[in-house]
Amino acid sequence: MYEDLEKKVVVITGAAKGLGKAMAERFGKEKAHVVLNYHTENGDHKEIIKTIEAAGGKAAAIQGDVSKEADVKKLLSFAVDTFGTIDIMINNAGIENEVPSEKLTLEDWQKVIDVNLTGMFLASREAISYMLDHGIKGNIINMSSVHDRIPWPHFVHYAASKGGVKMMTETLALEYAPKGIRINNISPGAIDTPINAEKFNDPKAKQEVINLIPMGYIGKPEQIAACAAWLASAESSYVTGMTLYADGGMTKYPGFQAGKG
Ligand code: NAD
Repeated sequence: MYEDLEKKVVVITGAAKGLGKAMAERFGKEKAHVVLNYHTENGDHKEIIKTIEAAGGKAAAIQGDVSKEADVKKLLSFAVDTFGTIDIMINNAGIENEVPSEKLTLEDWQKVIDVNLTGMFLASREAISYMLDHGIKGNIINMSSVHDRIPWPHFVHYAASKGGVKMMTETLALEYAPKGIRINNISPGAIDTPINAEKFNDPKAKQEVINLIPMGYIGKPEQIAACAAWLASAESSYVTGMTLYADGGMTKYPGFQAGKG
């Protein structure tokens, strides 16, 4: 637990399930004031709010599509109206779909780029602008993926969006370091969330993924939430522009294990 996170206002996109939910609940344990953005989920955020409040935090939720500028502005205004400020912005919402690249429609390409990259830019811009106006040495965390460096056939739009997020993070970190705003990236490997449910329900497909992970197991959402809490806390006060790979070693060329190669 990080004492300095108590009462910090943290905004999390895509917070009704998966990694967003795990981070919301972790920040609840940190007794932070959590603003959850949800998209199409029907009421899932209500249980999360109860969990956060039971842990000693505060929480509020608002619906919105991160790829829509007006919704993003509304999300940040809601956070300020509800809890008085914005200290930590976590850009988590993301989507993917599998399509061989020669069949990928412009519509599908655009949708993934709009949510995964443009959505993270819009919320980063709004949060930075608020922090600059109010002299807040805030914190932005973007949820990228190991596919910001591992190429991923059939997911070219996803890989391109995450590569973009990584470079966006580094550029914004450089731009706003003199103002004390830290901006970092978390790049998870394979984590057990609804985005992977279909794949992990198939034992063969699941084993194929595990074979790519030197540590030998699928990650848990709480392990990513722990990275977010550390990056948001003063314990990482000299860290900016970094990408934290939380991937059980997936980016370390597992094919070369045990003398191979
Ligand atoms: P998930 O599908 O469980 O959750 C994604 C969340 O994003 C959902 O709550 C969904 O409603 C929300 N969302 C989708 N489109 C949205 C929009 N337009 N506006 C607002 N919210 C929207 O997935 P997850 O595994 O929790 O993924 C969270 C993030 O982590 C994503 O950016 C994903 O790319 C990234 N990631 C996940 C993994 C993994 O293995 N689970 C690995 C690497 C990166």
